[in-house]
Amino acid sequence: MEELLKTAGIYYNSSSANLKQLAREFFKSLDFDNDAKSASMSSSGNGSLKFMEVMSLYYIIKSGRPFCEGCDEFIPGMFFTCSECFENGTNNPFCVCPMCFENERFIHPSHKSNLFLDNYTLLEAKRQSAMATRIAAEAKQLEAKREEELLATFATFPRQNQVINVVIENFTFRLFW
Ligand SMILES: [Zn+2]
Ligand SMILES: [Zn+2]
Repeated sequence: MEELLKTAGIYYNSSSANLKQLAREFFKSLDFDNDAKSASMSSSGNGSLKFMEVMSLYYIIKSGRPFCEGCDEFIPGMFFTCSECFENGTNNPFCVCPMCFENERFIHPSHKSNLFLDNYTLLEAKRQSAMATRIAAEAKQLEAKREEELLATFATFPRQNQVINVVIENFTFRLFW
């Protein structure tokens, strides 16, 4: 939980004043114990801790932190996820905690390949795919540029032919006269 609090804190601190204000308003609207004071933003006491706990909860929801399909527990750290479910963009990606993954304490019959990736490898795979897309786009751009250059060369052909004709005419003229 400590890591989640820290992550939520980093997000909160680096967000805009506007967003911070919205977060505070949201927190105040929860009004713990029906007492506006308990939801205060004081740096001492429970107020600030409660606020960060709510921010952590918000972060958990927003970041799509998963619950384990094996033990049903919230997975606070790294996890393994079915790459097929992930790529299919399903609403419920199939994720398991390291313990359940290691002990095969889960049933996932929908995908026989059972290619599970941990969240770090998944992030890396996403980077690789983005890189491949960029390289392909650059190659396409280069090809289009080459084609354009080739077309420009063709466009100057008639003129070049004219020059050659003039040279040939002059040459024949000198030969015969
Ligand atoms: Zn589990
Ligand atoms: Zn799956």
